[in-house]
Amino acid sequence: MSLEKTENTEKTGAVVTVTPLRLLGDQSDWVDCPFCRRRVETRVEKKPSRMTYIAGTALCLTTFLGTFVPCWYKWYYNVDHHCANCDRIVAHREYNKKEVEVLGTLEHEKEVSQYPAAP
Ligand SMILES: [Zn+2]
Repeated sequence: MSLEKTENTEKTGAVVTVTPLRLLGDQSDWVDCPFCRRRVETRVEKKPSRMTYIAGTALCLTTFLGTFVPCWYKWYYNVDHHCANCDRIVAHREYNKKEVEVLGTLEHEKEVSQYPAAP
């Protein structure tokens, strides 16, 4: 019975889609969490990188209030996507990189183990 329901949902086009972790941007988005295996909206946390402080120091030497500008406008911030359910970091992007570092392995990317478990 439940299997029929799933098929019907797919036929009517009411398929729920999520964003692949590697394509996450700076905003929160719906993803499949590889850790708790739930569909969640990520919580974005922007953290200052070393460059934020370097820029702050540089502006401090040249202007008076400029010190806080890099923090206010979030210059050179690294972006972390947290799972809203289990709170683990599912994706991370450095301020100077375009690629997103994906944390955790999705089910379809896992492979069958070739070796026996370690004692
Ligand atoms: Zn999770």
